[in-house]
Amino acid sequence: MALNVRNRTMVAAVLHGARDVRLEKVPIPPLGPEDLLAKVEAASLDSTDRKVYLRGYHPMIEIPGLFGHEWAGVVIAVGERADPRWRPGMRVVAANSAPCNEADPSARCRPCQRGRLSMCERLVYNNGAFAPYIRIPGRIASVNLIELPPDTPFEEAALAEPLACVMHAIRRVPIRSGELVAIIGAGPIGLMFVSALRARYGHTIRILSLDHHDDRLALAETLGADVALNTRSELGRDELKKVLGVERPDVVVEAVGSEQAHREAFDLLARGGVLVSFGGVARGTVLPLDLHRLHYEEVQIVPIYHHTPTDFAGAVRAIVSREVPVGPLITARLPLSELPMALDMAQQRTTLRTILLPQEGGERMMESR
Ligand SMILES: [Zn+2]
Repeated sequence: MALNVRNRTMVAAVLHGARDVRLEKVPIPPLGPEDLLAKVEAASLDSTDRKVYLRGYHPMIEIPGLFGHEWAGVVIAVGERADPRWRPGMRVVAANSAPCNEADPSARCRPCQRGRLSMCERLVYNNGAFAPYIRIPGRIASVNLIELPPDTPFEEAALAEPLACVMHAIRRVPIRSGELVAIIGAGPIGLMFVSALRARYGHTIRILSLDHHDDRLALAETLGADVALNTRSELGRDELKKVLGVERPDVVVEAVGSEQAHREAFDLLARGGVLVSFGGVARGTVLPLDLHRLHYEEVQIVPIYHHTPTDFAGAVRAIVSREVPVGPLITARLPLSELPMALDMAQQRTTLRTILLPQEGGERMMESR
């Protein structure tokens, strides 16, 4: 231990239920022997946080509990049996989970035995990024924690987790040269898809970005979309028909998370096309499907949830190398005390990504017992 934080408290965001998040004085998380403690330099508020806040439930968080899962910072303490790679002072980014993926294959859960690590039955999740300090569980420290070079800003590294989900989709859905990919939604995730697909495939594929906000569509074009269309109006939809002609997208990514956008994605697809169901919807959401078309046009639906250590490492590499520029997605920076405003901004969609800065006032919090 490099720092004695025992019996110290901090002010952290605690989610108590739907629309009930409170900034509370809580103990700095105690460390198990394999755990690390890090100072959160930048945390990112994403649409999953917004959904969790509105719904009051999500597979990855226990409620009531510490809130926030995207962050980057500095290791400040290490447990006595922690992975020896980690030392206080190292700049790091951690994923919000780690699969069991035991070294002994027979000890792995069934999905991990099958190589489906995002479906691990014993996935360890970590929350608590909206706080000055966060505990990194041992398993995450050993498989899903990455050291950052000095010139990678913490706020950009904090976007590694959502980019890892995008990398997961790109790994699972192969695209052939000459294919047309449509991305429904030009929020941070849709925009990450534009950048990451362009980085992966260059100009061998065509990318169409669809959204209802002109400013987001303009950014989609800057980041590499061949065509960006506002489909809110009838005019926009006519324009879409004109752009597509008789052609339909071979792959449609649903990056919105609604029944309607899933329906639009399904309707848009070419014969033999692939619908990537990326946006998560609320429990009980039902989409009536034309099974005739599904069968005779061999439409595939590939749902993508979460990421694996391979995807997380790939995302960090892409951010560090600037191959996938995430800086343009950061449109607001606020101290942690402004979390309610940040949630409101995410709700009103007046920002792409908001970075929360828990160290603004953090040391003072640290001193209060
Ligand atoms: Zn597992």
